[in-house]
Amino acid sequence: MKTGFHTHCSALEELYLNGFEGRLYIKRDDLIHPIVSGNKWRKLKFVIIKAQAEGKNHLVTFGGAYSNHLLATACAGATLGLKTSCFLRADEAIANHYLTAAKLYGMNLIPVSREGYRHKEELFREHFGADKQAYYVAEGGESTEAIQGVTEIIEELEFEPDYILHASATATTALGLGKGIQSKGWKTKVLAIAVLKNAAEQRDKVQQNNLSDTIDILDGFHHGGYAKTSEPLMLFLQQTIASTGIMLDPVYTGKALFALNEINPKGRIVFLHTGGTMGIFSDAYAKLIG
Ligand SMILES: *Cc1c(COP(=O)(O)O)cnc(C)c1O
Repeated sequence: MKTGFHTHCSALEELYLNGFEGRLYIKRDDLIHPIVSGNKWRKLKFVIIKAQAEGKNHLVTFGGAYSNHLLATACAGATLGLKTSCFLRADEAIANHYLTAAKLYGMNLIPVSREGYRHKEELFREHFGADKQAYYVAEGGESTEAIQGVTEIIEELEFEPDYILHASATATTALGLGKGIQSKGWKTKVLAIAVLKNAAEQRDKVQQNNLSDTIDILDGFHHGGYAKTSEPLMLFLQQTIASTGIMLDPVYTGKALFALNEINPKGRIVFLHTGGTMGIFSDAYAKLIG
C-alpha cells in the first residue's frame, strides 16, 4: 500500500478585479490537482492517513452525481492504491462527466434511492459489514480530520491577511481556516459565503467550535439555493473568467467571488479558490452562457 498523501503548497497570486479597492490575492487550491476539487483533496488528507494507520484499504463514502467529494475520493484511491466505493444518491439511472471520471478511477458506484440514501450507516453495514478493510468516510468528508487538513492552508500563508473569503457549504473549510488562524494568534477574519440556504446551521457549528470571533457566515449570496444561479451571477462569471483566466463554477467559487466583489472589503484579502472547476462543464450551464 502506498502512503504519503500530498497536497503540495498551493500558489498565492495577486488577482485584479475591475473596481476592486482592496489588495487582493488568490490562493490557488484549484491547482492542487487538475481534476480533483482543491478543498476536497485537503479534507481527505488526514482521513486517509487515519484509514491507512488502521490498516484499511477500502474507502466507502456517499455523494450525489455532481459531488466533488465523490470524485476526490475516487482519484485519491486510484493514486494511493486504495479501493473506493460510493453510495450514489440517484432515483434514476444517471450518467455525467463526474461519474465517468469516478468510474475511470476505478470507483465502485452503488446507486441508492433518495430514501435509502438517508440511512448511511445502515447502507455501510449491509454492504460492507463483512469487509474488514472497509473504512467509512462521511459524506463530503466532514470530520475532525478534514478540519485538520484545512488548517494547513493557513500554515502555508506568508503574511497575516485582514480577510480570507471562500465558498462555504458545511462550514468544515471555514472551521479549519478559523482554527489555523487561532493557533497563529492572528486577527484575520474568515468571510464564509454560504452557497446554500443553511447559514443558521453553519453558524451553529462555528459557535460550537468557539470560532464566532474569527468566522462570519454570510447569508444572501446563495442566488436562490444550492446549485441555483441568477443572471447577474452568470454574467459576472463570464466576465471574470474572461478577464482573469481563472476558471470558476456557479455552485461554489463563482458565488464566493461574486460576493467578494459586492462586499468590496478594504485591506489585504485572500480569496481561497476551493477548486470544483469540473462543475462548470455540466450541460445545464452550456445553455446559460451566451
Ligand atoms: C465542497 C466545496 C466547498 C464547500 O466546502 P465546505 O467545507 O463544505 O464548506 C467549497 N468549494 C468547493 C469547490 C467545494 O467542492
